[in-house]
Amino acid sequence: MGTSSKEGPGTPRASERETLRTAEAPAASEDSAAPHAMTPFEAVNFQFDRAARALGLPEYLQVALKTPYREVLVEIPLLDQNGKITTYHGYRVQHNNARGPMKGGLRYHPEVDLDEARALASLMTWKTALVDLPYGGAKGGIDLDPRKLRPDQVERVTRTFIERIHHLIGPNEDIPAPDVNTNPQVMAWIVDEYSKFNGYTPGVVTGKPLELGGSPGRNSATGRGVAAITGRAAADQSLELDGATVAIQGFGNVGSWSAHFLAEMGAKIVAVSDVDGGVFLGDGLDVARLREIVEAGGSVVEYDGAERIDNETLLTADVDVLVPAALGGVLNRSNAGGVRARLIVEGANAPTTPPADEILHGRGITVVPDILANAAGVTVSYFEWVQNLQQFRWSAERVDTELSRIMADAYDAVATTANEHRTTLRTAAFMVAIQRVAAAVKLRGV
Ligand code: NAD
Repeated sequence: MGTSSKEGPGTPRASERETLRTAEAPAASEDSAAPHAMTPFEAVNFQFDRAARALGLPEYLQVALKTPYREVLVEIPLLDQNGKITTYHGYRVQHNNARGPMKGGLRYHPEVDLDEARALASLMTWKTALVDLPYGGAKGGIDLDPRKLRPDQVERVTRTFIERIHHLIGPNEDIPAPDVNTNPQVMAWIVDEYSKFNGYTPGVVTGKPLELGGSPGRNSATGRGVAAITGRAAADQSLELDGATVAIQGFGNVGSWSAHFLAEMGAKIVAVSDVDGGVFLGDGLDVARLREIVEAGGSVVEYDGAERIDNETLLTADVDVLVPAALGGVLNRSNAGGVRARLIVEGANAPTTPPADEILHGRGITVVPDILANAAGVTVSYFEWVQNLQQFRWSAERVDTELSRIMADAYDAVATTANEHRTTLRTAAFMVAIQRVAAAVKLRGV
């Protein structure tokens, strides 16, 4: 039985609320204005501020755009057969709805808290704007470890959460989706619980099973997009992806599908990891075999014939491309100096802290930011929602064609802005996104 303890599974994230000092990050003059210890939300706003300044956005708009619209915290009691009660905390932060209903995942992890939800909700506002979807941003989660609960207990906690927030979500309000440790089954329970109050409403969440109105291609979408964006960024670096070596941290939805599509494009996946550790094989790992192990409930460390490595070693492996696809803050001031990849593609949300960003930039390592690299997930979520509203199913081919177009347009917009303003891909991505949200906020009125 889990508790609402804040102890995590050993992720470096908790210990990386880093001090940002000018001396350690000489590349950016803005650094001296940064606070000493950045929470995840402060880290996102640090990126926002830099882009907003480059755009010359008026102060009132900067404040309006950074401030979340609504923050919800509910208590979720779970009683077990022995009469022991555990209270979990469910969060939903709705950040901005200027461009449409708010959209964002639901994460089940012991370290979920309000600040993390704020940070990820804000990132969703910028991500949906960057790929030009008619959405705002939201994010939520529950501070539970599903590995310590039975499926029926996860179902009860999920239903109680939705019972308590159902009046604040909906197809025209806020549309959750899977994130870390949630999956199509969790989305199916949400459809059922929400529909008890509102009538059958599959469009209340995306990432559903196909049988309940899910979209073809949603499950693999984020990894497909990570691979496509890696292809574009590699080409811009004159890095031949065919034969390039890749390390991927996290082998869940995003990591495993990224590995699958990158291998299809000819890349050699030499290192992967999950919460239990990692494996390295210089000749390249068999991605299909890895996926079989994980789909059967195992860990990548069970892969035979490869060297066992830990997560820190994976991040500094001698590879061409590094794809962090697990949790936030894993690339931080303590390890950014040791990264050997030429190209980092952020499959995870917020895997790079601002100090690490500076260090990597200073070392000439290109970082493709999360709001671009992993935006294919929310894009196919949008297709799923459109199909639910129209009650008309698209083919897998149509999903892939539309997705490719949207991701290519987003990459082009970011690359062009980065060139024009001589800035990083991250600042450029924020600039494109902020401009769009600012225009909508101004039109609607602050
Ligand atoms: P998931 O639960 O399917 O997989 C998470 C993976 O990370 C698992 O392999 C897990 O073992 C591993 N992991 C957990 N803790 C770890 C640790 N401390 N060290 C190393 N590995 C660890 O989650 P997901 O949906 O693949 O999401 C991964 C990341 O991608 C998250 O940051 C999420 O916000 C982001 N993301 C997901 C989607 C999506 O469509 N699922 C879309 C955009 C962004």
